[in-house]
Amino acid sequence: MPDARVFGIVTGAEANAQVVWLEKTIPVTPELLAKTGDVEPQRIFRIVVKCQENACVHFDGSRCQLAQRIVDHLKPTVEELPLCSIRPTCRWFAEHKRVACFRCPQISTHTYDPPAVFKTTAGGSMKYESSSPMTQS
Ligand code: SF4
Repeated sequence: MPDARVFGIVTGAEANAQVVWLEKTIPVTPELLAKTGDVEPQRIFRIVVKCQENACVHFDGSRCQLAQRIVDHLKPTVEELPLCSIRPTCRWFAEHKRVACFRCPQISTHTYDPPAVFKTTAGGSMKYESSSPMTQS
């Protein structure tokens, strides 16, 4: 997607992965993606794209149901708001405020073999996909 930008880096082993936020987003380019070598870039980078709304399986016509499931099923992993550069345009924040942010560091864009609660949260999908959606570009 032409507007895709990296806004965080996934750190730690997959089961305990946490996101570290970048001070500023950086564009997703072929050169950047090549830097991850044999590892899929989506396992390392948190990537933000413009929300696709009705083109996305998680959108119910007015709200992001993936964000709703994250809020409903995942426990908070932080107690303070992460220093996240996309908050002003983040759909998850717009819909759930800090409740979403407290759960956000455990989300990676692409996680294989996620725990059961993540499978539930992702709507039963084995491959958990979550680009953080911007409400506007
Ligand atoms: S939910 Fe909060 S921490 Fe996560 S991307 Fe949106 S604004 Fe940033």
